[in-house]
Amino acid sequence: MSSSFNVDLWRSRARQRHVDRLTKKHDNYLSSTTLKSDLVAIDGIKEVIDWCALKGIRVVLNAKELGGTFEQSTHEMILNTRLLPQKMLHLMLHEAGHMLIGDSKPNARFGRGYNAKKTSDKAENFSHRVDVIDEELCAWAEGEKIAKKLKIVLNRNEYISTRDKNVKGYLEWVVRAGKFKHLKDEDDTDTYATN
Ligand SMILES: [Zn+2]
Repeated sequence: MSSSFNVDLWRSRARQRHVDRLTKKHDNYLSSTTLKSDLVAIDGIKEVIDWCALKGIRVVLNAKELGGTFEQSTHEMILNTRLLPQKMLHLMLHEAGHMLIGDSKPNARFGRGYNAKKTSDKAENFSHRVDVIDEELCAWAEGEKIAKKLKIVLNRNEYISTRDKNVKGYLEWVVRAGKFKHLKDEDDTDTYATN
């Protein structure tokens, strides 16, 4: 099941989470701060979606996706609909960064990365993984530039923290011996249940 982004729904969910937290006797000040950052992130998400529309990118929210992914071939950005607003914003910016980087030619930077042919050669396989990491870090940096360009209020420490959590899986994958496969940007630690 997929859907598009409904700003009012996301805002009302954020307010409801605040009410739920207070019912559970959470600290009012901390909960209000979370609500405020949720609402700021929702405004940011809206900005990125409008920007994506201008660039011809379709943003699809899908409960089945763990985190986020960008399909270069269809120009579709697919994100988990259960992500919390700030995490959603971070992943969107990162996926938009992937879009800006685009497909790489074999001899260009990232040439052995996502578009590389499958190989059983160990050295090439390792080189492929390093190029994927290179591309991943670049996409995070590009995402931050997009936020700046769109004047999105971004908590840099939080953005870097999301980057680090996502990159960690890739880094482990680089050094782990094993089958050749692609990872996806995923981080299911900050999702919430919609039911
Ligand atoms: Zn990525």
